[in-house]
Amino acid sequence: MGLTRLWGLLKPGGPGLATHRRQILRDNVPLSRILPQAEGERLERLVGDFLDRKHFEGCHGLKVTEEMRVTVAGYACLLLLRDPVGDFPQLGTVVVYPESFAAPIRSANHVGIVTETVEERLGESWREGTVVLTWDSIREIIAGMSGDCNVIIHEFAHQIDARRGLTDGAPLLALRGRYRDWDDLLPAEQRRQRTALRRGRPASLDAYAFTSAEELFAVATECFYMRPVRFRNSHPELHAELQAVYGVDPAAWVLSAEC
Ligand SMILES: [Zn+2]
Repeated sequence: MGLTRLWGLLKPGGPGLATHRRQILRDNVPLSRILPQAEGERLERLVGDFLDRKHFEGCHGLKVTEEMRVTVAGYACLLLLRDPVGDFPQLGTVVVYPESFAAPIRSANHVGIVTETVEERLGESWREGTVVLTWDSIREIIAGMSGDCNVIIHEFAHQIDARRGLTDGAPLLALRGRYRDWDDLLPAEQRRQRTALRRGRPASLDAYAFTSAEELFAVATECFYMRPVRFRNSHPELHAELQAVYGVDPAAWVLSAEC
């Protein structure tokens, strides 16, 4: 079966979004305003399907609103615009905390002594079907105050990554045979960042990206969608890899919107 035929079979169906949801999407997810028409229509269908399929749960007294649901779905579904499955199949529930939450961390040293600490988190992606987010960091994104950072995109990039069953920063693309081993990309990007810092240039990727291949993938995905033109210029190799992964080039959307 050809790719076009399969794409036609798998694309989400149903009508576009209700007017109030469309307005939230436009207001809170700026890329949705500059998408080419076909991608814009597909995003609306994906968001509608996401809202139908996924359960949202507020924690610590937070009441989940329509704005929260549509904003989360809007950013998450940007990652699915060319995805043949059009879903995060393992995901059942999105949990939203009002603000950063404490997560217990267990670690063992080289002689096997286990210590437990507590870490403040803004988000988490569990392979067992849950994404955890915080409303105060989502509000920062909506206000345009988060810079390159987008915890929604970050955690859903981990969901994409986990589809192959192993979270290792080299996501399986259902119909794309091509991806590089992100373990190979990690040291090269570390060297690039160190050189930039030595030359007095600002760090272009958050230091957290260099903790592992899967974090490099998630952090680079944030930049790919949040600062697409700058990212394409500063990291052409990573940009090309992510363009192959997601099948879109957000830098092209931004540049054509500026014309
Ligand atoms: Zn992460």
